[in-house]
Amino acid sequence: MKRANLVEFGKIVIEDVDVPSPGPGQVRVAVRICGICGTDVHAFQGHHPFISAPIVPGHEFSGEIDKLGQGVEGLVVGQNVTVEPSLVCGECEACRSGRYNICENLRVLGCQSAGAMAEMISVPAQKIICLPEDMSYEQGALIEPTAVAVHALHRADLSRVKRLLVIGSGPIGLLTLQVAHAWRIPIIVATDIVDSKLAKASELGATHAINVSQIPLTDFFVEEFGKPNPIDLAMECVGAEATLLQAIESATEGGQIVIVGVPPTDPKIRLSWVQDRELELLGTLMYTQCDFEEARDLIATGRVQTEPLITARYPLERVGEALHEVLTHPENNVKTLITIQE
Ligand SMILES: [Zn+2]
Ligand SMILES: [Zn+2]
Repeated sequence: MKRANLVEFGKIVIEDVDVPSPGPGQVRVAVRICGICGTDVHAFQGHHPFISAPIVPGHEFSGEIDKLGQGVEGLVVGQNVTVEPSLVCGECEACRSGRYNICENLRVLGCQSAGAMAEMISVPAQKIICLPEDMSYEQGALIEPTAVAVHALHRADLSRVKRLLVIGSGPIGLLTLQVAHAWRIPIIVATDIVDSKLAKASELGATHAINVSQIPLTDFFVEEFGKPNPIDLAMECVGAEATLLQAIESATEGGQIVIVGVPPTDPKIRLSWVQDRELELLGTLMYTQCDFEEARDLIATGRVQTEPLITARYPLERVGEALHEVLTHPENNVKTLITIQE
């Protein structure tokens, strides 16, 4: 079978290797579509602290069950599926309390274990999420990033949220605002510095889409809401010092902030406002099975649309080129998908 291997940072090689056989309790999936995530791009550059080369990237994917390992029950060959890519120990305190997304020994397919930029992948059977019959493989591949958005929003107390700020209208931002819209949060302000992404944000449910390279966000808030910090919940989906600061500045007294983007190591932020305004700073990491199922159902019912996010499609042979394009032209790309096999 063919697979894309990141043999060293910046270099993808398409290799021909033996098809992996599923071990006991495992399922082999014939991969159809695999998305490129910001994590893959960071890994490609050698900038990701927890990913080393060589690695087969790819953790957001869909396909079809190809073979069942020994002892697997309740699944059938030919079923269309996606896979929760987190491999967890099941024994640490986080795992035992059900929060296995923050497992002390967490490994992720495509990050610390071979991923889905390959024609076949074997995964634990309990990580399989079945797709409804009429769901496309492209929709199936976008369940994973949608689950990130679902989990991130669940981190906050949404009963207190009327005004939501989504900072960054990339894939996670656009999915977060769609989930929030589906959950009937009335005011959703989306930001970005690229007008085409803001147009998508408006189309997908943002009530206000602000280009922060043209209008200072606080000016907009004063004009629209009468104060510079009117936001009940800020979802920081960029992971930069300036946007973290924006999230804290925007939050109203008693407001909440969820840090979804991966921040730089030592950002300079105004913690005095966190103290003085009793803000709540929350982290979020990945998801659990409930989030995945909720994400699947949001897509299946059309409440989360995936098609508007897809800006490019490449075949498996061109993964290196696709990663390079996403890295060098972030303004043109929202979600790039790789067709692993037709
Ligand atoms: Zn990802
Ligand atoms: Zn664990």
